[in-house]
Amino acid sequence: KEKGTYTSDVHEYVQHVYETVKQRNPYENEFHQAVKEVLDSLLPVLAKRPQYIRQAILERIVEPERMISFRVPWVDDQGNVQVNRGFRVQFNSALGPYKGGLRFHPSVNTSIIKFLGFEQIFKNALTGQPIGGGKGGSDFDPKGKSDGEIMRFTQSFMSELSKYIGPDTDVPAGDIGVGAKEIGYMFGQYKKMRGRFEAGVLTGKDIAYGGSLARKEATGYGTVYFVEEMLKEKGHSFAGSTVVVSGSGNVSIYAMEKAMHLGAKVVACSDSEGYIYDKRGINLETVKRLKESEKKRISEYVNEHPQAHFFQGCSDIWSVPCDIALPCATQNEIDENTATVLVSNGVKAIGEGANMPSTLEAVNVFHEHGVLFAPAKAANAGGVSVSALEMAQNSARLSWTFEEVDAKLQDIMKTIYRDCIEAAKENDAPGNLVVGANIAGFVKVADAMIAQGVI
Ligand code: GLU
Repeated sequence: KEKGTYTSDVHEYVQHVYETVKQRNPYENEFHQAVKEVLDSLLPVLAKRPQYIRQAILERIVEPERMISFRVPWVDDQGNVQVNRGFRVQFNSALGPYKGGLRFHPSVNTSIIKFLGFEQIFKNALTGQPIGGGKGGSDFDPKGKSDGEIMRFTQSFMSELSKYIGPDTDVPAGDIGVGAKEIGYMFGQYKKMRGRFEAGVLTGKDIAYGGSLARKEATGYGTVYFVEEMLKEKGHSFAGSTVVVSGSGNVSIYAMEKAMHLGAKVVACSDSEGYIYDKRGINLETVKRLKESEKKRISEYVNEHPQAHFFQGCSDIWSVPCDIALPCATQNEIDENTATVLVSNGVKAIGEGANMPSTLEAVNVFHEHGVLFAPAKAANAGGVSVSALEMAQNSARLSWTFEEVDAKLQDIMKTIYRDCIEAAKENDAPGNLVVGANIAGFVKVADAMIAQGVI
């Protein structure tokens, strides 16, 4: 009997691939978690399409095409030489140039970069845009660094990274700790090294030199557009709902903004020190000023809004009762216990704005209790979608209006939602968006890999 035609064989095959990943990548827990989450969803599609097994698609897809790791030396304001580690994983180029953000955070290591890069393959496929999957970053901590230190660090980082990227090769963007300012310094350094103005080598650029309108808003807005589609199907809406959004960075701020546009009341948001609770609804202008311009702590919010409260400990934000929870901070911020608390407080829907914010156990809790669940690779794909639109505008040497980009973003998020629902239905998991997103993304990449031969 042909391997892969029967479910038990498929099980065995998937288990074998997972064990190999664990053996080859010891101690990389986040990467193992991301791989497991995808592999577990693929059983029905592997049973139906044995060619994926014959072509060793799983074995190939879990192994990065290239993993680059490099030294980043720089001089701090005291004149001391500092050394950080830089990474770029070029995971899969079946659908287009590698595409994905750069994260600057002390927690960055190969496991974090590989989990993010692996997720990015399927997320980018879901967008329907011609982009492969990649990710990068450094364990550099931008917190408390001067502007000069950030510039010298990013220049050193780009001096090395520039050897491996290009508008048709690999196109980085921002992620945690990397915003328009860092992208600007990196673009300047890349331009200097190349001696060419290659606008499409980075996305998330400032509007002044080739950025796209609505890129900044895209991840947060896209998450809310996606969740609104999911709610609509069950007769719910953001309108009149109470919402909790973790984080207070780029994703969180624009998720809050769009949720408010749609008539929700956002009562809590957080940073790495703790969370604020404002039962009358968060004043977003204050959060934007504190976080985007003044780079201050979220705790300062209560000085201006005395009716609000600040609580230490960022993960406790999930004890605030809400109808809709949007985790927009970082990976594994919702575990099984936190998920149980959310459920017992009556949460109706979860929309993941961050990458892999819920553990595998937490997702099970949500599914078991019938909570609507929008997984990250679908729900937060708006950011990278607009990055692809930025690349398109750069290639065509034109720029679209905010309204044009926002309309395309809404279309893309609705299409992703439909594709996920369709794939879930076809694969005996109706309404399960985790299965839907993983299969819909995987099939596009797997078909392209088969078409391109064994490479
Ligand atoms: N870092 C974002 C993500 O996780 C955006 C990546 C991009 O725009 O390339 O999808």
